[in-house]
Amino acid sequence: MIGKVLVLGAGVAGMSATLDLANAGCEVYLIEKEKEIGGKAFQYSCKRTETCQKCSACLAYQIRNQVEHHPNVRLLPFSMITGVSGKPGDFKASVRLLNDTRLDLGAETTLEVQALLIATGFEVYRPKYQGEFGYGLYANVMTAYELEFFLRQFSAERVPKPERIGFVQCFGSRGQATGRSYCSRVCCANTVHLTLKLHFLFPEAHIRVFYQDRQSFGKVRFWNHMQDAANIEYVRGLPAKVLGYPKGKVTVRYPNTFQGTVHEDEFDWLVLATGMIPPEDQLEEIVGLQLERNRDGFYAQTEMGTSQAGVFVAGACQGPKDIPQSIAHAKAASGQMLRFLQRLSSL
Ligand code: SF4
Ligand code: SF4
Repeated sequence: MIGKVLVLGAGVAGMSATLDLANAGCEVYLIEKEKEIGGKAFQYSCKRTETCQKCSACLAYQIRNQVEHHPNVRLLPFSMITGVSGKPGDFKASVRLLNDTRLDLGAETTLEVQALLIATGFEVYRPKYQGEFGYGLYANVMTAYELEFFLRQFSAERVPKPERIGFVQCFGSRGQATGRSYCSRVCCANTVHLTLKLHFLFPEAHIRVFYQDRQSFGKVRFWNHMQDAANIEYVRGLPAKVLGYPKGKVTVRYPNTFQGTVHEDEFDWLVLATGMIPPEDQLEEIVGLQLERNRDGFYAQTEMGTSQAGVFVAGACQGPKDIPQSIAHAKAASGQMLRFLQRLSSL
């Protein structure tokens, strides 16, 4: 073993870093507050149509399988970290067990590790107030994250076919509703995946995406897809109001900023492309780590890891990332940690 380390958070970034560290010869404690490892990526649906859409949702399953069977990995689900003491290279982390309602069972253990990696992921933006864009008021207004759940359990016999589906982009990002000015980076591409999947399931449905900006972050092929797909229309202009009529539908009032006009249209479903917001784990307060956040509230990363020596950060807790970006970031973070462990052993 080249060292004992602790990874906090078993989403796709935490699992990827765990795997890299374990493969490099570390003994890795992987701590997760939920019952199962996998994180939010594990809840995403497969967007396969006639062909694989390369949405990467299945990568989470593959990585989880390898992590669960790796001899160097000690899995600690239903656990939370309550304190860290010591110094870089010689940390003592207090870990407590939870039950399935996340109640503290009081059983505590202390893990002695050389380094820690924080991979606590992101939170999904939740509408700020009841009824924002009809969310929480009308059953047919859902977040993109909820649509993922729906698609995972989709059964054509049980779902009435929607005729018109709307998507609202930048919901909770770029100043919309929350005042958060950053781009969540993943929701444009995810909407392309979701609209193509819905078009595959309901080829007769008309899909309209309300947007203010389109970000591909290197995935230019998406915009070619969009132009080719019949029945999927992009309208520049975010809705101003969502009204709960007629029965079983919502009416969306929106501007078309290219034409300078205002319109109203009915939709069977309205999907809010929710943004990623910083983790609410409050590790700084809970465990006393001196972790700095960046101006958007995510953990700040430095060349050496984080603002605290011996502590590293991976995945969407450092800033919005999709699954492949989270995996790549986890690889870089585990590399930083391995270099740190090598320096320690050479002292
Ligand atoms: S989950 Fe995504 S990447 Fe995997 S098979 Fe389905 S469409 Fe392809
Ligand atoms: S990725 Fe697209 S939808 Fe998401 S915040 Fe950025 S511009 Fe808006």
